[in-house]
Parts: sequence; C-alpha cells; structure tokens
Amino acid sequence: MRLPRTTKILGYEVSIRYKAKLGTIKDPSFGEYDPNTKTIYLVKGMQINRKKEVFIHEYLHAVQDVGCIKISHHGIELMSICMLQLLNDKKIKLWGG
Ligand SMILES: [Zn+2]
Repeated sequence: MRLPRTTKILGYEVSIRYKAKLGTIKDPSFGEYDPNTKTIYLVKGMQINRKKEVFIHEYLHAVQDVGCIKISHHGIELMSICMLQLLNDKKIKLWGG
C-alpha cells in the first residue's frame, strides 16, 4: 500500500508523512494526527494490516478535526477496527495494498 502525500477530507488538504519514531519513549505510538498542520504521521516500516489500521485511525482523527465533530477516542478505535474488517472482508484495497 503506497499512500499518497496528500488526501482531501471535506475539502481540506491533509498531508501524509512518515517518521522513524512517534510518541515518547514511555508512550510510543504508530501514528499521530496534527490538527495544526493537518498532517497524518505514520511510523515507517509497519506491517500492511497494522499500517491500514493506523492510517484509518488517524484518518478518523482528521475527519473529527476538519468536520468539527466530537468522537470519543474509544469511538475512533472501534470505527477503525470495523473499517479495517470491512476492507479485508470485501477485499477492498487502499492505494494498491
Ligand atoms: Zn487516536
């Protein structure tokens, strides 16, 4: 899966970038969304299913931000797991992966 450098969400351009590490030593993370720069960050080198799940999770944070809606973090986790299941069950590919 080769993600594009940008994607549009509700008319906003959201960037997608990779980093070697995210989070802190005590609390590492695989992905982050920065609402100030409208950028999704993903850790480099993730296994495909993990990468999809993290991307969908951060994508939903971006939807929450640009859509000005409140979703609990638990809600985002639940929706990202369900969306990944749907993609896998229906063999839907995201950008070729
Ligand atoms: Zn999150």
